[in-house]
Amino acid sequence: MHKGFKTMAVIAVVALAPTAAGAVELCHVANAGFLIKGNDASVLIDGLMEADQYRGRFALPSTNHLNAMTEKTGNYENLSLVISTHRHGDHFDPLATLKHLRATTGVTYAYPADAVASLEANGLSAHEKQRIITVPDATQTDFNVDHVTVQTFDVDHGPNQPQNVGYRITVDGVSFFHTGDINASRQQLESAGVNALDVDALIMPFWFGHQDPEQLATIKQSWNAKLVIPTHFNPKPQPWMAQFGGLAEIQENVKGAFERAEIITEEGKCITVE
Ligand SMILES: [Zn+2]
Repeated sequence: MHKGFKTMAVIAVVALAPTAAGAVELCHVANAGFLIKGNDASVLIDGLMEADQYRGRFALPSTNHLNAMTEKTGNYENLSLVISTHRHGDHFDPLATLKHLRATTGVTYAYPADAVASLEANGLSAHEKQRIITVPDATQTDFNVDHVTVQTFDVDHGPNQPQNVGYRITVDGVSFFHTGDINASRQQLESAGVNALDVDALIMPFWFGHQDPEQLATIKQSWNAKLVIPTHFNPKPQPWMAQFGGLAEIQENVKGAFERAEIITEEGKCITVE
């Protein structure tokens, strides 16, 4: 799209908005991890990880960011909710979670049931468990934490994979959907209640829909997303990427598949979503 036209379109949307629309910052953490930074409460999703389970294949937060999450400083000053989509080590870390939980107050955590079991296996006490919301498998649920509204959906990660939860998170009137690692059919999403869901920003791994018309159609039927944030990019190009022209080429392709898409890979970089 021509740059000038894009600017005009943005102005038109702002002028037509009936009331002062909310604006929320979305900040990249690492891998598929993001911080949704609201005025009074912020949500960290898939970003609290310390142990490298994959020999550097996936990015982890820096020590500075991990410290800021624990001390609730910088971007993380009003951190209220920490969420993980599933228990894989590039989205969830039981020991880092326990450390965080024991060092903070005023933070609630939400995890799939099998990730909570992993916390218990690593020493989570019954008292500590009171701060955790357990998301049941194959069920749609919702909860509120500090004026943040969260709806959960069963989003399939694929065969022989752990429970994966898709979260629709609404902060200051702006809605985000994080799919976690998705490898789902349209039928599976339909049965999970993911049908033309309105979201201001859809955060999903870049490989879903990449060079795959059926998956792309599934995305477009499952969500009405104003903005798509393709994520889960490896810090270094992977050998398989060569056949698609390399990482930069893949990023261009993925972006071009949607009307509005934005890629943020830098730690701590924020964009405004409204
Ligand atoms: Zn995974």
